[in-house]
Amino acid sequence: MIKINFFHFLRAIFFCVIFLSANSSYAEQVVVYSARIEKLIKPMFDIFTKETGIPVKFVTDKAGVLLERLRAEGKNTPADMLITTDAGYLWEASQKGLLAPIESEELEINIPLYLRDPQKKWFGLSVRARTIVYNTNNVDPTELSTYEDLAHSKWKGRVCLRTSKKVYNQSLVAMMIAEYGKEKTEEIVRGWVTNLAIDPLSNDTKAMEFVAAGKCDVTIVNTYYYGRLIKKNPSLPLAIFWPNQDGNGVHVNISGAGLINSTKNKKSAVMLLEFLSSKKAQKLFAGINMEYPVNPEVNPDPIVAAWGRFKQNEMNVVKAGELQTEAVKLMDRADYR
Ligand code: FE
Repeated sequence: MIKINFFHFLRAIFFCVIFLSANSSYAEQVVVYSARIEKLIKPMFDIFTKETGIPVKFVTDKAGVLLERLRAEGKNTPADMLITTDAGYLWEASQKGLLAPIESEELEINIPLYLRDPQKKWFGLSVRARTIVYNTNNVDPTELSTYEDLAHSKWKGRVCLRTSKKVYNQSLVAMMIAEYGKEKTEEIVRGWVTNLAIDPLSNDTKAMEFVAAGKCDVTIVNTYYYGRLIKKNPSLPLAIFWPNQDGNGVHVNISGAGLINSTKNKKSAVMLLEFLSSKKAQKLFAGINMEYPVNPEVNPDPIVAAWGRFKQNEMNVVKAGELQTEAVKLMDRADYR
């Protein structure tokens, strides 16, 4: 007969509690809230877990939804890291006090200054170039020069644009305000709107499809959308043009990450961030979505490299956040819908 001694019972419970609490305080993991979709993050997380034994859990949603969730969860959020696909949202998260600064020599070596927060609260992990795509049958590339030139009357009825509601365009215009001031930028944006062949389109791919169909001749898109479209349909009469090469360079934005203020897994989360900026992860992180690595030691994927080398605008992407509200107002004034 098994005799259950009350003392033994208590002792068993005691050890259970000790075991569980020890387990939870030592079981490091990283929880990521990501606006970057699963297939563009999971492969790198899997490698990180394989190398370190640290599991990475994640949820994906739109950046606005994730920011609201972080705000609502406050200090109780399980999130350790936020990933977005635009500097504007990281800037907003930082403004709302959601992000913690990180001191990391590795991050500062791996990521150029203009692609990370001067206050060290977020870091770019891939570069997204927003450039001109044109119809190769209807446009001689020598006609093209700069973003601002698309406001010239020679492009009347030839321009297609994605809606101004998309943060990518808000960031582009914000960076232009930083460069040219409000007055000149408004003049340029007004010119674009005057030159539109049709009302602004819902996404970059649609804008390129209209260009390919000859409904307009030029548009402004992120290059990875061009890559995806051409992969599906290589015969489309589309090509990339790198504007402003004699001036400040092509407008770039980032997909990047920051640490959540209340993280209880700071060490592991910083390790993950450093890993994502490393040579090994960068090739995959950028390559998987046909973006450009932030780490200057890493070459772009061969498909991306074939689009040619270009000068990037090296104004700090923090401006995309700082001037986003101004940009939205300006686009509204210029009737860019
Ligand atoms: Fe995108």
